[in-house]
Amino acid sequence: MGEFSQPVQQGFDLSADLLIRNATVYDGLGGEPFEANVAVEGTRITAVGEAVPAYREIDAGGIALAPGFIDTHSHDDGAFLRHPDMAFKLAQGVTTVVAGNCGFSAIPAEPSTDPNVASGGILAGLNDAKFTDLEGYFDAVIARKPAINNMMLVGHNTVRSITMGLEPKAPTAHQLGLMRGHIERAMEQGACGFSTGLIYRPGRYSNTDEVIELTRSVTDYNGLYATHMRNEGDGLLEAIEETLTIGREADVHTHISHHKAAGRPNWGKVGASLARVETAIRSGQRVTLDVYPYTAGSGRMIEYFNLDNPSRELAEVIRIASCPAFREFEGRMLTDIAGERNIDITEAVLLVLKAPKGDQTICIQFIIDEADIETNLAYRDMMIGSDGIPALRGKPHPRLFGTFPRILRKYVRERGLLSLPEAIRRMTSLSASTFGMDGRGRIAEGCFADLVLFDADTVHDTATYDDPKREPEGISLVIVNGAIALERGQHTGVGSGKMLRFHAAAHND
Ligand code: ZN
Repeated sequence: MGEFSQPVQQGFDLSADLLIRNATVYDGLGGEPFEANVAVEGTRITAVGEAVPAYREIDAGGIALAPGFIDTHSHDDGAFLRHPDMAFKLAQGVTTVVAGNCGFSAIPAEPSTDPNVASGGILAGLNDAKFTDLEGYFDAVIARKPAINNMMLVGHNTVRSITMGLEPKAPTAHQLGLMRGHIERAMEQGACGFSTGLIYRPGRYSNTDEVIELTRSVTDYNGLYATHMRNEGDGLLEAIEETLTIGREADVHTHISHHKAAGRPNWGKVGASLARVETAIRSGQRVTLDVYPYTAGSGRMIEYFNLDNPSRELAEVIRIASCPAFREFEGRMLTDIAGERNIDITEAVLLVLKAPKGDQTICIQFIIDEADIETNLAYRDMMIGSDGIPALRGKPHPRLFGTFPRILRKYVRERGLLSLPEAIRRMTSLSASTFGMDGRGRIAEGCFADLVLFDADTVHDTATYDDPKREPEGISLVIVNGAIALERGQHTGVGSGKMLRFHAAAHND
């Protein structure tokens, strides 16, 4: 990239705060890029085309300028409070995330409830929270000057555990009403929809009718239903049916999170499940999906094992990400831990999970076929969501730091699975319209100036399973709401992120 320079003021009114000269502009809509200058004034893009006088100019030197990337699947609710610099996302060129996924959200919250329970143990950073609702959460985050924007879902597991604890039973009519009240309040305050994580507690105790009834809370708001489905392995196709039934019965836009077929016997099933989604779309249902570009998942380990009979097959593909009980296990495969201790691998599972704080262990599980990732990415309108878990202690899944540059390197540049304009569209305008983000995801006059400048020939992820907390290379500038948030690899700390409120009109663009 070229020079960063301060222009000489010349005695006439400078119309823009910032001018990015000589950029190859990918406007987010998927068409061919074009050479242009982009002017920014305040929080908005004010001109795309000819150069205009500006207080500051940046010469892009011909490299790619795109709308800031949108991470459709994050668990960053607590990270906005604990790590407001959001460095792991900003360095990827991500300017907006959707949080509150998989049924776990920072809100609603109640002082009497342990936030670690209501947030499923994956939303670290909520311990000192004083808020109870979305307005309060937004105020608390804005006070910390977050680096990037956040759009929130309200989560089923959180709402359910606050209302009726973790008991494996059905809600009474009264409890169902209380849960609907929580969801409606979040929607009134700007949430974009309702999320479930039906493999997790307590969501797994709910039946389809409960989820339909709760999902109806977002219908009048034109919100969406985002789901980590009840089963992503042996029961994937049944879970797709349940998901489509919920969307149809509640008459809402349905978004399938991190679409995958987990476990070797199920590899290849994503083809059948995408075909089923396609049929639903043709029949008039609105269904969208996202995927992360890695062959391993990650989550709270205790959710994946039956302690009375731990699965050997799963244990053999488990790597420990973070483990308060045994820090020395972090970054190691369970097979190696068992071998070293001369114990059976199922005993190693119990050793970890039954230790004090063992239930807080986050694991990484190698359960996905590379070919299925490619099938997913080849599907039209497949969006990108990192699913990163921002537990920075230990060795988190590298998707937290690497997802978006990895798509650009591996699947665009190396495999040629997506063109660059199309990959950018899936990371920007498509995500913005899907999640109702007004005025974002495009480079056009009047849009918010969320921008990323990168070298399409060299941009790449550097985070690996062994060394996961590494920021990508090839991204030279990130602008969030008109302010420079990252420049030449340095985080500026400007803190210009906003809390976004769902805009149903943008939803129908
Ligand atoms: Zn999930």
